Amino acid sequence: MLVNKLFDTAIVGGGVAGTSLLFTLARYTDLNDIILFEKYDEVSQLNSNPKANSQTLHVGDIETNYTYEKAKKVKKASFMVSNYIQNFGWLDMVGFRRDKMVLAVGEEEIAQLKKRYDAFKVLYPYLELWDEEKLRQIEPKLLEGRREPILAMGATGQITTVDFKKLSESFVQEALDTQKNIQMRYNEEVTKIERNEDGTYTITTDTTSFQAKTVVVNAGAYSLLFAQAMGYGKSYATLPIGGSFFFTKEKLLNAKVYTMQNPKLPFAAVHADPDVTQEWNTRFGPTAFALPKLERYHSLHIKDLIDALGIDMDVTKVYMSLLKDSTIRGYILRNVMEEMPLIGKEVFVKDAQKVIPSLKASDIEFAEGYGGMRPQIIDKINHELLLGEAKIEEEGITFNMTPSPGASSSLNIAMQDAQALCKHLGATFDEAKHQEEIESLKA
Ligand SMILES: Cc1cc2nc3c(=O)[nH]c(=O)nc-3n(C[C@H](O)[C@H](O)[C@H](O)COP(=O)(O)OP(=O)(O)OC[C@H]3O[C@@H](n4cnc5c(N)ncnc54)[C@H](O)[C@@H]3O)c2cc1C
Repeated sequence: MLVNKLFDTAIVGGGVAGTSLLFTLARYTDLNDIILFEKYDEVSQLNSNPKANSQTLHVGDIETNYTYEKAKKVKKASFMVSNYIQNFGWLDMVGFRRDKMVLAVGEEEIAQLKKRYDAFKVLYPYLELWDEEKLRQIEPKLLEGRREPILAMGATGQITTVDFKKLSESFVQEALDTQKNIQMRYNEEVTKIERNEDGTYTITTDTTSFQAKTVVVNAGAYSLLFAQAMGYGKSYATLPIGGSFFFTKEKLLNAKVYTMQNPKLPFAAVHADPDVTQEWNTRFGPTAFALPKLERYHSLHIKDLIDALGIDMDVTKVYMSLLKDSTIRGYILRNVMEEMPLIGKEVFVKDAQKVIPSLKASDIEFAEGYGGMRPQIIDKINHELLLGEAKIEEEGITFNMTPSPGASSSLNIAMQDAQALCKHLGATFDEAKHQEEIESLKA
């Protein structure tokens, strides 16, 4: 059955990326008819769920895996989320102010951290260096049983923790409040997208077909598959990297504590923090290991996986160059062992002891049902693993691939897509209103 109405925009995927676009289009453009498809019965059941990700609003201040340039971009993007949370009254429901820090362990890391502090304080004037005396007062567990010296670079009073599912729900609520014609199609899986001769698109789902003038695919690991089915994005493949967590029952920390990045490793170093879902207390992780899945806890469609992996000579070259490095090989092996039922916690606790030296394997438990999949993108032309977001833009249709820090950058990605859609459709994006409500913080 074809539903005749022609929508201005169809959004595929109701994670934080899809819902932030829904909100941005509804509130800041004059587009009226928007439809969003989500294959599950609620928004943010996959990576944007608080059980799947680290719940961190990545600002770039304590993430030592970011260069200055990347930190600058991430700061601008993630401030939109903290501004939204404050300006729209979602503080303490969606986003939370907590202390945060990155911990340097040993003289070498301390020297690196001091250098980073000097270079980054222009970008983040609120950052402070916290010595052992200060840390003993605020986070005593960091020092218990510690032999090496430590120093932290931290901040207080910032929004550090976000429940990205609640953020998605708030976006839907704000969008519906605009009184535009918005259709939320839950439990409806998009199976095909086709471009029609007149430049519009037909979106076929497992029950019906719809038409839209423009489409944005924010379907996580599936975005690239949709693009490739339409003949786009052939120079990309996906490397699905799982991430798991461990928990303690006892509350050990008040702040988000990140550790310094080993520059040779592609994924962020382990951190620990209080879990926002409150089901557990202190959460450690995430791990990082290749896993042949596109959704962590749902059934696997083998064909989708094979298509996503896209294994050919170029992809194999990227795998080989990753495996060539002994630090990366050791890291991969350790992360695989961390997933094993009997030895996992014994191996993981060694990483976690960098944060809390007195932690024992018996204090932690593998967080069953927690963790997500990072759909990392492989660039087959340049033979490299891309570590941020990627976008494929064609006439009237956009495909977003949003591994970390995609949730933190969601409103920025949405703004760019909304502006491009308006340009394509000859519609208006209200820059002044967006600037006032999202890009600047009200006193
Ligand atoms: C272990 C881990 C830790 C992370 N930590 C952080 C962090 O601390 N901070 C941060 O900013 N980011 C973090 N990330 C990244 C973050 O989770 C993602 O960037 C973000 O959730 C991506 O949002 P999304 O909406 O693109 O994808 P998703 O949340 O995966 O949403 C995609 C949606 O599309 C739907 N969908 C898929 N196919 C179809 C279809 N055919 N039809 C209809 N619907 C469909 C899915 O059901 C899903 O709801 C982390 C990721 C992992 C794995």
